[in-house]
Amino acid sequence: MSIQRTFSIIKPDATERNLTGAVNAVIEEAGLRIVAQKRILMSRREAETFYGVHRERPFFGELVDFMTSGPVVVQVLEGENAVLRYREVMGATNPANAADGTIRKKFARSIGENSVHGSDSVENAAIEIAQFFSGNEIVG
Ligand code: ATP
Ligand code: MG
Repeated sequence: MSIQRTFSIIKPDATERNLTGAVNAVIEEAGLRIVAQKRILMSRREAETFYGVHRERPFFGELVDFMTSGPVVVQVLEGENAVLRYREVMGATNPANAADGTIRKKFARSIGENSVHGSDSVENAAIEIAQFFSGNEIVG
């Protein structure tokens, strides 16, 4: 077991429904600490860079439109095996397949509007955190 950091986004479908606190409660109840957090409007360029791995997918344009459609809350989460732990807490990409008690099961509207993002590896977590936070904004 090791203490890790992962990158999280509370997506526009959740901020629109005033669910930031409800999502944060699930995160904290799962034992993850929110060590950095800010509410921003993502630019198209930021969203295209962030989801660049999906550039060739048919849903890419829709995904960028969605991620820039309203405020998001970007976060750094810290805890034991935080990367995998947060993926478990989020649940499957498609809320129809998400386990009970997960954020996506509770709150997601659809496979696209699925309320949260979480890094899929320790390496990607470091890259994603660096895209949105400087070191002195993260207080563990
Ligand atoms: P995220 O990267 O946001 O944490 P994920 O790792 O569970 O989600 P990915 O396969 O990386 O899933 O897809 C990135 C995001 O693209 C999804 O969270 C969702 O918002 C959107 N997406 C994925 N598949 C589809 C699809 N078939 N139709 C529409 N949007 C999709
Ligand atoms: Mg992903």
